[in-house]
This record gives sequence, C-alpha cells and structure tokens, in this order.
Amino acid sequence: AVTGFTATLDGRFARELAELAIPWRAEEAPEPRLLVLNEPLALTLGLDPEALRTPEGISFLTGTSLPAGATPVAQAYAGHQFGGYSPRLGDGRALLLGEITGTDGRLHDLHLKGSGRTPFARGGDGLAAVGPMLREYIVSEAMDALGIPTTRSLAVVATGRPVRRETVLPGAVLARVAASHLRVGSFQYAAAGGDLALLRRLADHAVARHHPQAAQAESPYLALFESVVSAQASLVARWMLAGFIHGVMNTDNMTISGETIDYGPCAFLDAFDPATVYSSIDSGGRYAYGNQPLVAEWNLARLAEALLPLIDEDQERAVEAAVASLEAFRSQYSAAWLAGMKAKLGVPGSVPDGEAAQLADDLLALLQAGRPDYTSFFRDLGSAARGQAGPARSRTADPAAFDAWAQRWLALGPDAAAMDRANPAYIPRNHLVEEALAAATNDDLGPLAGLLEAVTAPYDERPGLERYAVGAPEDFGPYRTFCGT
Ligand code: AMP
Ligand code: MG
Ligand code: MG
Repeated sequence: AVTGFTATLDGRFARELAELAIPWRAEEAPEPRLLVLNEPLALTLGLDPEALRTPEGISFLTGTSLPAGATPVAQAYAGHQFGGYSPRLGDGRALLLGEITGTDGRLHDLHLKGSGRTPFARGGDGLAAVGPMLREYIVSEAMDALGIPTTRSLAVVATGRPVRRETVLPGAVLARVAASHLRVGSFQYAAAGGDLALLRRLADHAVARHHPQAAQAESPYLALFESVVSAQASLVARWMLAGFIHGVMNTDNMTISGETIDYGPCAFLDAFDPATVYSSIDSGGRYAYGNQPLVAEWNLARLAEALLPLIDEDQERAVEAAVASLEAFRSQYSAAWLAGMKAKLGVPGSVPDGEAAQLADDLLALLQAGRPDYTSFFRDLGSAARGQAGPARSRTADPAAFDAWAQRWLALGPDAAAMDRANPAYIPRNHLVEEALAAATNDDLGPLAGLLEAVTAPYDERPGLERYAVGAPEDFGPYRTFCGT
C-alpha cells in the first residue's frame, strides 16, 4: 500500500504576475470522497494514482493539504459577459494551486473549482455542486478524446458540504488541468489597470508558455496576437465540426493557449440547426451554435484592444496592424473547417476546395431542412460510403435530394474507414449526461462510468455500448443548461 503523497508544484504565475494573483486557501471539505479520478492524466502529471486515492491524496485534490512551498492563488481577470464589460471577475470559486511539469516535459496548471469563496466571489458562495463538476469532467474528457484542445479533468471530489441552489445539492471540487488559465480577460484586466510593465510581463509570460515562436518575430506582441487568432480559429472550427456548443463564450472564458475552457452550459448539438441554444440564460442567442465563429472573432478584437499599447507606440499604427492580423481569422477558420469537413466526408484532400465547400454547404442545407441528429447522421454517412445509404437517407427530410447529393459525393470516392475516424459514434449526449449526473447526485456512479467508457474512445464502435450511440428518446423534451451551478 502507498502511504504519503508527494507532488512538486511550481508557483510561476504567482511569482511572475503577483499583481494578478491573490494568495488564498481552499475551504475545508468536511467529508471528502473521491468520485472520479483520471488515472492516465495523473500519470502524465507524474502523480501516482494510488497515492491520490489515499486520504493525503484526496486532501491534495481539494487543496486542503498542499506540498510545502505551494502558493495557491485566485487569479484576477476581467471580461465581457454577453457583450457587457465587467472590470473585475477573477476566480470567485477557484484556485490555481500551481504548475506541474508533466512526464511530457510540459508545464500544466493544476487548478481547483468549487474550493470556496475568494476575494473575487462577489455575491457567490464559492462552491460547486457534484452534478456540474462531473459535467465538466465528462465533457472535457470527451473533447480531449475527440482530439479537440481542452482543459482536462483530473478528479472530482465530493466535499460533504451541502450547496444551496434551487434545491440543496451535494458539493464537489473539480481538479482541473490546463496549459494555463490565461484568458482574453486576463489581458483586459491588465490593460485596464494602465500598468504597461505588467501588461508586457503578462504578454511575455503568455509567449513563453504558449507561443514561444512569437518571441522571434519582428513584432512579438503582434505575433502573440496572431498566434492566438490562429489557435482560436482552429479550435472553434473543431467545435463546429463536432457539433459542440460552448454556451458562454464570454471573453473571460476564452483562453490564450487555444484550449476550450469553462464547461458550464455547454452541450453537443442533437438535431442540426445553427440557431440552437441550450443555455437558459442566453435568451438572445448570442452564443448559439452557428454564431460561435463570429463571437470568437469579436472576442479576439477585445484581445487586440488590450494588446494595442504593446503593439506600437503609435496607436493608429497599432490599430492598423491589429486589424490586418485579425483579418486572418476568417480565412484560417474557413480553411480549418473545410479540412475537417473533408475528413468527415471522407474525401481526399486533393478535391478542390471550391468543390468540397459546395458539397459541404449543400449537405448542411439538406440537414437544416431535415434537422437530423448531427452526430448520428455523419456516422451513418460512413455506412453510405460502404454502399448502405438507407440509414443516412432516412434521417433526411428529402430522400431524393439526399440521393442527388450522395451521387456527387460518392463520385469522389469517399474512404469509409477514414470517415469512422472523423465522425464519432459516441459523444456526451444530453440525455446521457443528465442521466449520469442525476445518478451520481444520488450516489450511483455506474452510469457515469459507462458514459465515460463510451466517450473517451468515441470513434471505436463496440458491442454493448449501443445505447450511447443513439439520440434522445422522444420524451426527453427541449434541453436547457445552466451556468454557475
Ligand atoms: P463563469 O460564468 O463560470 O465564467 O463565471 C463568471 C464569474 O463568476 C467568474 O468570476 C466566476 O469565478 C464567478 N462565479 C461563478 N460561480 C460562482 C460562485 N458560486 N461563487 C463565486 N463566484 C462564482
Ligand atoms: Mg468562467
Ligand atoms: Mg463557469
């Protein structure tokens, strides 16, 4: 048996950017109980999974007992929430424990969510409920398995502390891992303070950690901006291809690393419709599925504004340069999306872009008319490439139009096996996520384990997992998600 738990946490962010870091401690967890541990991720971090399951390990995962020298901090950031600027958001219920150098040689943030009130908590209670923390665990791990850059989930620990929401719910702490937690909102916060040296230190920190090639550029801070533009163009294209709706794309929820962050009201598209909104608070549809590329571009414009003082002393020239750099977003997004769509359609990269784009657009128009289940339709299209068009055709509203489209597509010789590696069989379907969270809230972790097994190997269809590959039952009704729970 393993006794004792050791880990080495750096405090690089706290040291280099003290103005953005308030030293703070996690709240005691009265009755901590490990609900789920990500063993492969623990090993990547150089942490012993067996030791993490001991009482000392679990205290580490709730931030209540830390290695000597650790300096947990609440990070400051600002942000545009639904378009309105808030100068002071920050980690209201979260802490950066520090950075860990993984066995991959990379630096990873280890961060807690639901660890108690901090000086940024405003009216919030600093806590999180079991359900939403497990939702983040499921969806972030599914995203990673789909090959989409994302923060990861190391563990969820039930705290034994009740959390008051609409009802009283069991509380939990999520241990999250990220390339970093630097956000567009971090830059907005530093810029708004008017401390140019701090803004430069933040930008240098971001360049060193995420976009080191920018340091060699003629204009390193413009190059940093361009790197974030590229990373986000590629990220949001992947969201769109996978049918992922983030749900709360505020500038404080957009990373500098290009990882997906903050799984609150997120959900995967079931019926295809670009206007789909699941979040209960997004009444205007600002963060609807189809709006995500535009919102990303809008958020990047806010990042550019924050970086202007570093880009050029002459602010007119700085604006000109930033605007030119932001223009790359659209072409990079389109290129990433089209490359991904070619993969989903199984057509060779050599098919001319214009032809592939037309084929894709025509298909999406068909899907918009028939609103089939997005994930199932593309998986069935793989069967159509093998000569069984029935399942895909029957999902469309206009079979004759589908046949005409399929004739053009089949003429390009789609590769069915390649399609199965691009179109997942298993995603965290909304009804399955809700089922797993409701059971876990009532102490049954079985459905969570089953769902995780399916979505962490999403392309590999296997017997026994059939129920994870089908859409919601008729009586599931319209879906609503919530944030900040
Ligand atoms: P989010 O919508 O999750 O991006 O959070 C927006 C802001 O609200 C951030 O500053 C969070 O730290 C803060 N926040 C969300 N939930 C709570 C809570 N229960 N207690 C304190 N702060 C919170
Ligand atoms: Mg957030
Ligand atoms: Mg959140």
